[in-house]
Amino acid sequence: MTKYIMALDQGTTSSRCILFTPEGKIASISAREFPQIFPKEGWVEHDPMTIWSSQVGAAAEALMKIGGQWQEVATIGITNQRETVVVWDRQTGTPIYNAIVWQCRRTATYCDSLREQGYAQMIKSKTGLLLDPYFSATKLRWILQNVEGAREKAEKGELCFGTVDTWLMYQLSGGQIFATDYSNASRTLLFNINTLEWDDELLSLFDIPRSILPEVKPSTGIFGYSDVGILGAKIPISGVAGDQQAALFGQCCFTPGSMKNTYGTGGFLLMNTGDTPCYTENGLLTTIAWGMDGKVSYALEGSVFVCGSAIQWLRDGLKVIDSASDSEYMANKVKDSGGVYVVPAFAGLGAPWWDPYARGMIMGITRATTKYHIIRATLESMCYQTADVIALMQDSTGIEVSRLPVDGGACVNDLLLSFQADILGVPIDRPACIETTALGAAYLAGLGVGIYKNVDDIRLNHKIEQTFEPVMPEDERQKRLRRWRRAVERSLAWKEADED
Ligand code: ADP
Repeated sequence: MTKYIMALDQGTTSSRCILFTPEGKIASISAREFPQIFPKEGWVEHDPMTIWSSQVGAAAEALMKIGGQWQEVATIGITNQRETVVVWDRQTGTPIYNAIVWQCRRTATYCDSLREQGYAQMIKSKTGLLLDPYFSATKLRWILQNVEGAREKAEKGELCFGTVDTWLMYQLSGGQIFATDYSNASRTLLFNINTLEWDDELLSLFDIPRSILPEVKPSTGIFGYSDVGILGAKIPISGVAGDQQAALFGQCCFTPGSMKNTYGTGGFLLMNTGDTPCYTENGLLTTIAWGMDGKVSYALEGSVFVCGSAIQWLRDGLKVIDSASDSEYMANKVKDSGGVYVVPAFAGLGAPWWDPYARGMIMGITRATTKYHIIRATLESMCYQTADVIALMQDSTGIEVSRLPVDGGACVNDLLLSFQADILGVPIDRPACIETTALGAAYLAGLGVGIYKNVDDIRLNHKIEQTFEPVMPEDERQKRLRRWRRAVERSLAWKEADED
């Protein structure tokens, strides 16, 4: 009777559901965009109930589109926007505040003060992360401090904190599952990636009561079951991972040294580093890739905050394109960016700069500049940012990148991938299924209920659709990279810490 693995892919801009066959083929897909809430400059929130309703709506729709029955769903895998914080009442399941999204910068000055007090090294050695508003702990602390009555309720054990995976599982199971997986826990700034436990010293630093935290489990294996009243069948939930780690899994990067780059809302380069954490001093994050077979695998990560969302800005902010896919057609109207460089530091800059005060800039404008140049330069910025994190990854691991597997919503753009090949000087591989995030969650879930025996079973499904070869001369490549770096330097430290 069972035919499908259901992957719930709860992203920053949309909630999606993909039904996969065990061969990794897409049987049905459904997506619902939901509103972004910007209460102040640099603040980003989502309504947790809208996250939930859009996700369950997408799930039902994906099934209905193909006339499927809930009984045909063998298992559910969940992958999610990471670090985003939801706090809800344990009894009623009602959120006490909006979800504070990973992009939100509201805790930047608090992070500065912790850095000044000398906490950065301790935090890095325990969590693999940096002191940046990006991660969950300072956002959770903000909610407990600023929502009336929250601190008292938390101390009494009446509140639950979760990243979005935890929030969805709680809702799907009618409050029965209160858990997360290693990959999501490793993004909170509260989880010790060496001992694999919530860390008392960090909990006390951020003033977080332990009772608010979910149980941490391996990424594959049964977390619990969906409530029949909610999905129409009791279905196991047997695979969970943060979106970037799921994409690494979906690209079959199972061996140390293998890597992928995702062009989604943000851009994320991850390299599997095997069963020991690899620490660097240059702005890469050390994180847990997944927990499986009684151990965890680690990854090194370069995080770029604004990638595909720069294209959304062209569409919704500048209004120079009608849809994201228009960007390719418009950029192709000019042969290059005409010397224009766009630094999309809309939410500060992540790796390698980690500057929450950087802001966006358009450089190199002349009287000959048209909107087409700006559109092209915006697309190119996604490639330059990727080149910066690849350079870091190579420097810190000594592993030469000889080709790059890619995925994410923007990788359908051929111009983007051709320029990426040019600016890196290596071939770019686009897989047959670019929905690798959802695919990774489906694979983890399939392993969790025995649809796949092991990762070799999964590898059989992996196929490359197209390879983009570099053609740009080396001196031109170097010249453009130098210009890009000069442009980035000018965008750093733009906003002052005490400016509202
Ligand atoms: P996420 O899961 O982070 O929400 P996706 O992987 O679905 O994101 O990718 C969506 C992003 O890709 C959006 O920011 C969108 O602007 C961008 N995008 C989609 N199609 C294209 C395209 N053809 N060219 C460039 N960018 C695109």
